[in-house]
Amino acid sequence: MNTFRFSHEPLDTEALRESLRDPACGGYTSFEGWVRNHNEGHNVSRLEYEAFEPLAVKEAQRIMAEAVERFGIEHASCVHRIGDLAIGDMAVWVGASARHRHEAFLACRYIIDEVKHRVPIWKKEHYENGDSGWVNCERCAAPSAHTEHDHAGHHHDHAAHSRSHEIAREQAHHSESSERLRAKARAQGTPSQGTPFGVEGAALRRDPHGMPEVRPDYSRQIALKEVGASGQAKLRAAKVLVIGCGGLGVPVLTYLTGAGVGRIGLVDGDKLEPSNLHRQTLYALKDVGEYKAVLAAERLNALNPEVDARAYTVRLTAENAADLLAEYDLVIDCTDNFSTKFLLNDICVRLRKPAIFSSVYQYEGQLQIVRPDRNGACLRCVWPEATRDGLVGNCAEAGVLGPVPGVFGSLQALEALKTLLDLPGQLGDELLVLDLLTMSTSRVRIRRSPACPDHASSRVSRPAPVAVTNLEVEYESLDDADAAGLQIIDIREANELVDMPTPSGNARHIPMAELLHGNTKLAPSGKYLLVCASGRRSYAAAEELRSRGFAEVYSLRGGVTGLARRSVI
Ligand SMILES: [Zn+2]
Repeated sequence: MNTFRFSHEPLDTEALRESLRDPACGGYTSFEGWVRNHNEGHNVSRLEYEAFEPLAVKEAQRIMAEAVERFGIEHASCVHRIGDLAIGDMAVWVGASARHRHEAFLACRYIIDEVKHRVPIWKKEHYENGDSGWVNCERCAAPSAHTEHDHAGHHHDHAAHSRSHEIAREQAHHSESSERLRAKARAQGTPSQGTPFGVEGAALRRDPHGMPEVRPDYSRQIALKEVGASGQAKLRAAKVLVIGCGGLGVPVLTYLTGAGVGRIGLVDGDKLEPSNLHRQTLYALKDVGEYKAVLAAERLNALNPEVDARAYTVRLTAENAADLLAEYDLVIDCTDNFSTKFLLNDICVRLRKPAIFSSVYQYEGQLQIVRPDRNGACLRCVWPEATRDGLVGNCAEAGVLGPVPGVFGSLQALEALKTLLDLPGQLGDELLVLDLLTMSTSRVRIRRSPACPDHASSRVSRPAPVAVTNLEVEYESLDDADAAGLQIIDIREANELVDMPTPSGNARHIPMAELLHGNTKLAPSGKYLLVCASGRRSYAAAEELRSRGFAEVYSLRGGVTGLARRSVI
């Protein structure tokens, strides 16, 4: 057996141990992670764990399978608590049984280390002084505080993880961090100057010497009349997913974090390489080999602890994309490969989420914003022959100067803030192309293509009715007609509805005879869409109602059978 699960209940270690028992196994080893009463010099009173479960379970099960495969063990199991935990509670349990003890030890260690690194679980610490905060590994943000990275702190800190080593590093970190804070406080005068905004629930840390922590200050953007306190509240409520933590992603992440966007998801399955550093200014040489998403989330947390930065060390795939995107309002594509861009495009169109795309090639790049929520054009409308990977070189093959992705990432961040703040002048259905060698700019108008497979296959709504004649309109679905403000009236007989119900939750049923001869009390000023089986009766009825002064009554061409048959207009 080989399982991972989350539990809201305390763990029964006896039952867990028994589940791994096997007469063929001579070795069993387990690990327990406990909630401790301190972290980074703060007295912790309790913890909350939150997991992004669909993705977490998939990733954790992958880890379990890897452990079995790698170490040839017989059974492995891991259970992680979520919800409220008290000091001393067991937060995680790992068990492995094998023919020999050696493999069991190795597999157990492997599972807990990988779970800590790769599984999206977040921890909120509650402190004795009443403050609380989502915790990332701030140790890692202090340059000289350690040599070995322990990303456990990012996800969760359990007691049994090489204790003496950890304590030594924490002490080093504390002296470094308090020194840093004192220097910062001195440089700024009063630490609380400016307009601290929306501080409840944020990480209001104090250093071990009682010096108040300097708080994020958004006064320079709140001063803009288009932003103000209400704009800041919008940013705080926003959830933005950034795909790719490289040359484009770094400025996007930095500016959105500085601006106080409430939650930022970071998706990147790559580890930092030395060749990244000339353009990816968030990282340091000593971080080479670490997951970029984790490193970036730690930096962002140091930059603004009010922002809930969540690292997903995975590659975006057709399998996980919809789950990931569901949690966020706006998506920013900062990848350098076309298959990911088109995958992202298709899912954003399907989920009707806005997405900001950018691509960079040597000295030039382009920016496009896809707004399926406004029925805008998408990537496939512009590039019907989706560019295959390898056709246009990425940074590795073609070369790039560091500031080029920096410029485009900054433009993406700017457009993201404009979108979130609902500022005027947002890039519409157009492609912005900049050549930074010649400094030439062009804006190309793009149109939503009727041939685009995305809009055809994904049944995206088109609230504007497609008038075939003055009377007849077509929709991809009745939900679209509903979204366009039309009252849907199915005029078929009751027995017809039994065989084929009206494909809409918002339709009224008024049989044709009643509609034309009964007292329906329909207001002639209303907007109606009449629906029948084939579109013939509804056409006749709409014609009749028009003659009686119903100015905005329409007939659905093809009727409900047409809807069932056709997904393309
Ligand atoms: Zn399209």
